Amino acid sequence: MDNLARAADYLNRCSKCGGCQAVCPLYQETRAEPYVARGKLFLLKNHLEGKLPLSAKMKEIMSLCLLCKACVNQCPNNIPVDQLVLGARQKIAQEKGISFVKKNVFQHLLKNNGRLTLAARLGWLYQRAGVQWLVRKSNILKVFGEEIVQKERLLPKMAKRPFRKQVPRFLTCSRPKLRVAYYTGCLTNFVYPATGHAVVNVLRRHDLEILIPEQWCCGIPALASGDEKTAAELARKNVEVFQRAGVDAVITDCASCGSMLKEYADLLGTPEAKAFAGKVLDFSQFLSEAVSFRAGEIEVPRLATYHDPCHLKRGQGVFEAPRRLIRKVPGLRFKEMKEPDRCCGAAGSFNLTYYNLAAKIGRRKVQNIRETGADFLVTGCPSCIMQLRHMLELENSPVQVLHLAELLSMTYSSQGQANESGRGCSHAVS
Ligand code: SF4
Ligand code: SF4
Repeated sequence: MDNLARAADYLNRCSKCGGCQAVCPLYQETRAEPYVARGKLFLLKNHLEGKLPLSAKMKEIMSLCLLCKACVNQCPNNIPVDQLVLGARQKIAQEKGISFVKKNVFQHLLKNNGRLTLAARLGWLYQRAGVQWLVRKSNILKVFGEEIVQKERLLPKMAKRPFRKQVPRFLTCSRPKLRVAYYTGCLTNFVYPATGHAVVNVLRRHDLEILIPEQWCCGIPALASGDEKTAAELARKNVEVFQRAGVDAVITDCASCGSMLKEYADLLGTPEAKAFAGKVLDFSQFLSEAVSFRAGEIEVPRLATYHDPCHLKRGQGVFEAPRRLIRKVPGLRFKEMKEPDRCCGAAGSFNLTYYNLAAKIGRRKVQNIRETGADFLVTGCPSCIMQLRHMLELENSPVQVLHLAELLSMTYSSQGQANESGRGCSHAVS
């Protein structure tokens, strides 16, 4: 029996109250019933009753979901809509296959760190060797439509060297209180190394032994596309590496990775996966709950607002911890925006597949950010950062988008690396 059939009982629970319409970002932009939870559940019920085939249209409708869980939170009957959509995508992938591009990315890149690093390097070369400049200057992409032009602009600058090649694998100090591992995620590793350095800088102020082992993609892109087999293979590799490291906690700076890593227990169903999942903590959760957080002394006299990543607030129930930490930044003022937990439109690679729709969703978020008058938009997910930086840039907004780690890191003096501040920290490459 497939995952969709196993969850079939939920389909009968929908009372068609329409509560999901009020919160679904896709419905709010399209007003199309098939895109809201109620419409999707109706279609899936009809499919399981043998009245509707898994057609190309059905495939498209199931791919049009941000997996943001806003409807799950709202539903009076506790229907796990995102899990049903994932079940439908898996069934479609099993019966119809997945696209050529995705298949190759999942099979040949995500499972092979060497090839993934090479692909990132080629991306860097495309951006820095003048090819991107030529492509943009010549307007050649306009042949394929304005949407392709915008998608190309959405891609952020790749790092020259992956973050994990810039830092030691092992950092220690004289009196470590905990031994932790840092799961960097692909975006921090290949695109936002500054976030990685900020995470390490903040963690090193808290008497920790830090391991940054060789690791693999968390598997969420494969799972979201219906390729559960690849997601499980990646999960097994990560569980093995991090369990072998013998750490007290596995910290991640990415909301989507964190939510996926915590789901390994259900995905693999092994005692090792359960033990691993129990150790995973978001960066903000760790600093707020596992250690006594100490901000630095440098004042940041600015106004900040905060965006709740869907996979952090609804995926992991983490929303107070980041706010508690932001409020500890000396000199910083904080103002909530309207709808801080409304999806920004990124949703993994949704913004690459459905650029225009994601941009409409993103524009409402940008409007809410701008209304606060904030200098900084702080968040905890590199995927949201990519979307929000792009959307704010399109509007020539001066708002600076920061990962929470980057904001906290600003409070420490640049000379204050833990090993130079009297705490006796040092590092070694293992
Ligand atoms: S909120 Fe739940 S019960 Fe109500 S229509 Fe949506 S999915 Fe059905
Ligand atoms: S998960 Fe989000 S995008 Fe998908 S149906 Fe629910 S509210 Fe809409």
